[in-house]
Amino acid sequence: MIERVAVRTFTTTACTSVDAEGHRHPSPEHEITEALLEITDTDGVTGYCAVQPDQLRPAVLDKHVRPVLAGQDPWDRERLWRLLARRQRGAHGGFTDRALGFVDAALWDLVARKAELPAWKLAGGARDRIPAYASTMCGDADGLATPGDYADFAKHLVSVGYRAVKLHTWMPPVPGAPSVARDVEACRAVRDAVGPDVALMLDASHWYSRTEALRLGRALQELDFHWFEEPMEEASVSSYRWLAAQLDIPVIGPEVAWGKHHTRAEWITSGACDILRAGPAGSGGISPVLKTVHLAEAFGMDCEIHGDGSASLTVLGATDAGRWYERGLLHPHVDYDRTPPHRNAIADPLDENGNVALPTTPGIGDDWNFEHIGVHTLEQW
Ligand code: MG
Repeated sequence: MIERVAVRTFTTTACTSVDAEGHRHPSPEHEITEALLEITDTDGVTGYCAVQPDQLRPAVLDKHVRPVLAGQDPWDRERLWRLLARRQRGAHGGFTDRALGFVDAALWDLVARKAELPAWKLAGGARDRIPAYASTMCGDADGLATPGDYADFAKHLVSVGYRAVKLHTWMPPVPGAPSVARDVEACRAVRDAVGPDVALMLDASHWYSRTEALRLGRALQELDFHWFEEPMEEASVSSYRWLAAQLDIPVIGPEVAWGKHHTRAEWITSGACDILRAGPAGSGGISPVLKTVHLAEAFGMDCEIHGDGSASLTVLGATDAGRWYERGLLHPHVDYDRTPPHRNAIADPLDENGNVALPTTPGIGDDWNFEHIGVHTLEQW
């Protein structure tokens, strides 16, 4: 029976930070605040999920989460998820898909810890490792400043085992970004550098027009790219249907669109994408993304999972309609394999063949350093 639901904030350190538009770049090591959602059962077992505390403010926990979870059996995840999701109707964005996803992931972590099983096994084990694609940071002024920088970095990534690379190119506030011509230049430089056997993808700027997206997509299909991601505003399903009808390169989506598996079903039946996309952090949790992957499977489509981390790995281990794990964001000046002080190990070490092994420990696969977190706790609500 669930007896406690709490968010704890604590300090740790990071070697990246976000720019004025929210894109992550390298930075000197500095102190940051992180947060954990903790859901505790009367038997003393706790499930955890790393969260953005602004999504799970005290009022959100009090108004939406605790009234549903308190005193309930954590094994009733499906019933609890539906009760939580229904509360979103009247919350008008105050209780987001992201917040719902954090709660769902912590419930999966809790029951998997109780069962002493990895969550991906509990959800239906399909495979114990998955190829990773290297997902780059957006372009900047130092390290990913030119098409040649992307080419050099891609060569390095292939040399350490990756068999696939996804570029995020230049975005505002970089001057002149976004630019179709510059995107094509970077993609061509990378294809020339790695040769024909490495799968390449582009996550374009999100706000190109239809004609810009078509021009870029046609260039990518000539370069034999594997998929074309989010070139336009995803709320315009008609624009994606228009684009996908004219391109041979697979169009993938939607990544950020609100609406969980329901929205993904609409994208499939509209012909707006060739590969489906969803991620537990943004699409309401592990539970609805499992449904989304099975939906894709029923339509003979791949569903590629957005974002790194343990919840994404849980979905990928439990299903087999996604071909890749998104490992990143990567940059030539950032050590992605650095273990931050609040963890004992990272969740997604890469092997020399470019695969990430699914965790073998109970839960969704995060190895928290509770000693650090305890000493550095700032607030709990
Ligand atoms: Mg993306």
